[in-house]
Amino acid sequence: MLPIVIAIDGTSASGKSTNAKLISKSLGFTYVDTGAMYRTLAWFCITQKIDVNDPKKVAAACAKWKTTLECVEAQTRLLVNGYYPAKEIRSAETSAAVAHVAAVPKVRDWMKKLQRSCTKFGNLVMEGRDIGSVVFPDTDFKFYLDATLDERKRRRSAEGVEEDLAGRDQRDSQRATAPLMIPLGAIVINNSGLTAEETSQQIVAHIKQRLSQSTAGSA
Ligand code: C5P
Repeated sequence: MLPIVIAIDGTSASGKSTNAKLISKSLGFTYVDTGAMYRTLAWFCITQKIDVNDPKKVAAACAKWKTTLECVEAQTRLLVNGYYPAKEIRSAETSAAVAHVAAVPKVRDWMKKLQRSCTKFGNLVMEGRDIGSVVFPDTDFKFYLDATLDERKRRRSAEGVEEDLAGRDQRDSQRATAPLMIPLGAIVINNSGLTAEETSQQIVAHIKQRLSQSTAGSA
């Protein structure tokens, strides 16, 4: 049987990571944070003094960097030269740079291949911006999360992060290649008034219902 992929897309700070982690725990699936992969490239460019506004240089860096994909405690990690920059990829500088590197078509091709290869780790809960639309468009499990801008800003502030979320969303939605969008067939959840537990329980219930329908259909 082919691995199952649960695609969780949505705007910045819409609760994708928190929910994807809760869902992967609940189902026993591997969690894949694709935003972390783009952030890792942005961080790498910054450390190598590569101008993130120069698509050719960014594409060249992505073609050459030495990476390894690991799965540790049911979560994937992208290492560069054997190093996992867990903290660095959350810095304000990386957050400001990431949407620029993510708009480069060759970078997206590279990431798509890497993200598709994650099925070697088994069933997945994968979060990002183009998972249900581009990376796994054939999956039956697509969810799109959103919340009001005020609520999303409040969530980031509570984590001690102040950043231009609207600007990043705009850049992500307006790029030519694989823009942020509601994937065809996705269930849209606005979780402004919901806790992460409530949101993830809703999603898990949908998944279980769909899985039981497909098992009944194949019996
Ligand atoms: O999810 P996170 O906020 O960590 O993502 C960081 C950035 O990475 C996004 O704003 C977007 O520019 C890029 N990204 C993307 N496609 C994905 C995941 C993230 O373009 N599938």
